[in-house]
Amino acid sequence: MTENKTLVMKFGGTSVGSVDALKNAAQIVKDARAEFSRVVVVTSAMSGVTNLLLDSAARAAKGSMENLSALESNLREKHFSAADSLVADESTREVVKREIDALIHSLVDLCKAMAVLGEASPRALDTVASIGERMSVRLLGAVLNSAGVKSRAVESTEFVVTNAHYQNAHPNFAATTERTRAILHPLLDEGIVPVTTGFIGATMEGAITTLGRGGSDYSAAIIGSVLPADDVWIWTDVDGVMTTDPRIVPNAKTLPEITYSEIAELAYYGAKVLHPKTIRPVVDAGIGLRICNTFNPSHPGTRLIANAALASAAQNGKQIVKAVTAIRNQRLITIEGGGMLGVPGVAARAFGAVASTKTSVPLITQASSEQSICFAVPSESAEGVVNALQNVFAEEIKDEDIDRVWMTDDVSIITVVGVGMSHTPGVAGRVFSQLGNNNVNVYAIAQGSSEVSISMVVAAEEADAAVKALHELIVK
Ligand code: ADP
Ligand code: ASP
Ligand code: MG
Repeated sequence: MTENKTLVMKFGGTSVGSVDALKNAAQIVKDARAEFSRVVVVTSAMSGVTNLLLDSAARAAKGSMENLSALESNLREKHFSAADSLVADESTREVVKREIDALIHSLVDLCKAMAVLGEASPRALDTVASIGERMSVRLLGAVLNSAGVKSRAVESTEFVVTNAHYQNAHPNFAATTERTRAILHPLLDEGIVPVTTGFIGATMEGAITTLGRGGSDYSAAIIGSVLPADDVWIWTDVDGVMTTDPRIVPNAKTLPEITYSEIAELAYYGAKVLHPKTIRPVVDAGIGLRICNTFNPSHPGTRLIANAALASAAQNGKQIVKAVTAIRNQRLITIEGGGMLGVPGVAARAFGAVASTKTSVPLITQASSEQSICFAVPSESAEGVVNALQNVFAEEIKDEDIDRVWMTDDVSIITVVGVGMSHTPGVAGRVFSQLGNNNVNVYAIAQGSSEVSISMVVAAEEADAAVKALHELIVK
């Protein structure tokens, strides 16, 4: 055993989503305990639960309560059947079921309140979404105890302190450090494995917040960095970070190692396997990060490594493009007009208008003539953004300095990533000919300033073809 070494392990939704998965997870924690004296477990909600909760809230906000009893029985069945199979001690099992049942009742009450009000505030939505992790943490805690791992369920709302930016809250690292150490260290000192909720935190005043969808990875990184831990392991349902999403391309291969900047680009450009915010805290704290498969635990998965180490490996020339990824459901918005050259601060005003709609912009290109600015936004925000731009440039449009502000149909952003790309001439050429040879039309291009990625915008219906074609540059 590595004395006094601390490990944070995060289990994703699928990894706690069934009896078999929970059994694997318990065995994985047991095995890790043999290696690390201090282990913290972070869990997601059981798979599908967060979506179910948020869908019900959305329906309730529209006045519909029809699905509430089905929701109740679905959640009860999911959690109770796992508890019945895996929690041996009857009184522990009954306590867990009672606590989960109380959470389900509070969910129903919240949905009824939303139906009466006819609205769901971001704050209320976070409270609803938090219920998934608050149920699974109790279940997993009991499953671990039953498997012989001394553990205690703790809600991260007690120590992950965030601002009040509901649905995308930002941690207050100073307060989080203090509280996490105060709550988790005594448990770890006693040899207990704290099992805590991913995804959620609370404001200083105690209002529940969430860190954004898929945010349990980020929770693990936050907790790992403030403890601090020696290593953070993200347990998911694939063998680590792969050359592309194996759901699109079944022959995708695991990348044994990936650099900070590569994983940052991949995560940012849509590889769901890791939440993009996960990387910063572990890199800043100098902690190891590994992504591995709950359903194939002997596979080493992917290790995150410092940039310099791999830059040289990449120069060996083996793998220039390492991975390809896609962000779907985007639209391109273009502001164009011959008179734009003379309009002061066009870009600043344009992005100010976009920001006022609280929309994030994953990709921007500007023609060098300054006659057009083009950028991507999520489809659901596109109309609001176009309206905001038309308002802000009303004068210029009237004076015909700006001819039009328009948006495309749905598009996808396809990104190829690899640290070796910046040292290798002709990569862009190869990428574009590969798309051309496969009849994929490229609407816009952007290269990351770090030169670790090239992004291309293609029609939504060509996204899979583009990913498959580009993946052939990596795996034949
Ligand atoms: P979890 O619930 O464990 O957090 P997610 O569903 O959020 O799991 O992320 C894992 C999924 O990410 C995989 O099942 C896979 O379909 C998808 N994915 C997308 N891109 C990649 C990639 N490059 N490598 C591995 N998985 C990827
Ligand atoms: N349960 C949350 C979600 O589905 C967080 C996570 O799984 O990472 O978004
Ligand atoms: Mg995830």
